[in-house]
Amino acid sequence: FYKTEEYLYICRKKQHRAKMKYKRILLKLSGEALMGDRQYGIDPKRLAEYAEEIKQIHELGVEIAIVIGGGNIFRGVAGASNGMDRVQGDYMGMLATVINGMALQGALEEKGMLTRLQTALKIEAIAEPYIKRRAVRHLEKNRIVIFGAGTGNPYFTTDTAAVLRGVEIDADVILKGTRVDGIYNKKKKKNKDA
Ligand code: UDP
Repeated sequence: FYKTEEYLYICRKKQHRAKMKYKRILLKLSGEALMGDRQYGIDPKRLAEYAEEIKQIHELGVEIAIVIGGGNIFRGVAGASNGMDRVQGDYMGMLATVINGMALQGALEEKGMLTRLQTALKIEAIAEPYIKRRAVRHLEKNRIVIFGAGTGNPYFTTDTAAVLRGVEIDADVILKGTRVDGIYNKKKKKNKDA
């Protein structure tokens, strides 16, 4: 085994990984980022572009975990402003992140990557329950792990989930893909002076 092509390939990959700045990343993708030019939902073209970019990073040997948002489908706050119970709306938002997670999983697998979807709310027919040790094992085996359903708790956002999962799996960095291009003191869309 030690002289086989497979062993040499593993050695080369290990040497390459040792040189990399970030070996394990937590990528936060907002739901809105999946909309592309649409008003809501998922733009398949944008999804495929993301999958391609993720593939390029994955091929460098970087371990990738992804937390995905749900704002393109539903936000608890928006529901509450229309008279819906906030907690009910937040659970709907968490389910929206699972829908996005499934779409992303499909797009990544279409490009030949191995993936696992783990959710903070149990939906066992379509996803594994979130188990930290299992998630880390998947990453070590070069599978891309998508975390759905946020933290599993109402009144939180998927940004909190990204930080939480990032710390739990010991990611070297948390990277956020969003439509907002900086840090503002007010809502940029509504306030020109933000
Ligand atoms: N959400 C929640 N708890 C969480 C994560 C998400 O209740 O831990 C709900 C919340 O209603 C939120 C919605 O899911 O508005 C969608 O998530 P988020 O707004 O973070 O998505 P993004 O802005 O990234 O698209």
